[in-house]
Amino acid sequence: AHMVALETAHAPVTARDGRTIVVAANVASLAEAHLARERGADAIGLLRTELFFVDKANLPTEDEQMAQLAGILAAFPEREVTIRTLDVGGDKDIPALGLDAVIHGFLGLRGLRHSLAHPEILRIQLRAILRAAASWKGTLSVMAPMVTTADDVLAFRAAVADAARSLEGQPHRRPDHIGIMVEVPACAVAFDSMAAHVDFVSVGTNDLVQYMMAAERTNASVANWYQPDHPAIWRTLEGLVQSAAGRKVAVCGEIAAKPEFARRLVALGIAELSMAPSSIPAIKAVLRAELCANVPAGPRQT
Ligand code: PEP
Ligand code: MG
Repeated sequence: AHMVALETAHAPVTARDGRTIVVAANVASLAEAHLARERGADAIGLLRTELFFVDKANLPTEDEQMAQLAGILAAFPEREVTIRTLDVGGDKDIPALGLDAVIHGFLGLRGLRHSLAHPEILRIQLRAILRAAASWKGTLSVMAPMVTTADDVLAFRAAVADAARSLEGQPHRRPDHIGIMVEVPACAVAFDSMAAHVDFVSVGTNDLVQYMMAAERTNASVANWYQPDHPAIWRTLEGLVQSAAGRKVAVCGEIAAKPEFARRLVALGIAELSMAPSSIPAIKAVLRAELCANVPAGPRQT
């Protein structure tokens, strides 16, 4: 069964009703991007950029970030790559930033909140992204982590527009889509209040579950309360899909790679599942068996 999954992993998953479920990869490095390609990822659904900042005494320069990003984009020509801006704080430490465990803790100045408090770091990163994609032929999507309010979204969009404006006259590319991670309960529940400002969303269930269940993802003593199958999570996801009003809703948390959850997410109307590259062949096989039993696998794509 594993061999069959690998052989068909490069074909898209198209359901009998004609809709295609994008099975994408979460990657954090060039090596992972290559692995994702090998395992049949249709796209990069989440490019985590923290590794560019980790293990360094100094923050990476714009040119250094651009070079790293350009290499990863080149591994996915003519596909969609969704780049997440820096997500620090909570479980993600960046030594060069000198983060404080409380100020930058799970309920603190983390993700986009940190970027808005340090606009120069965000601006350099956004310029690196727009420059890296200058002559790349794929679909460029950019998203912010840990978004809470509509004001957050507007501030992020303004930062993207400023970065693009600052590059006038230089080779760069504006993003095709600007989106957000939905991982804060207030954002998920009241998404209708910000949908108009967002092209797509990607649900970070790793964080959404910890915040909804009030159980830290890194704290083993409360692991019993960290319940991805709790009805509160699924009612919230259902409401989010409804209030997204046709915008793409992806899921990039670890539940996307669990067959029993992947099926339920697709049944809710989720259009894209993004996961560790190694999980892709098995999840594609599960979805194909369920959604397209009467349709032959599409042509092999390389
Ligand atoms: C998530 O929160 O579900 C997610 C995908 O992002 P991370 O695990 O990097 O916080
Ligand atoms: Mg997260």
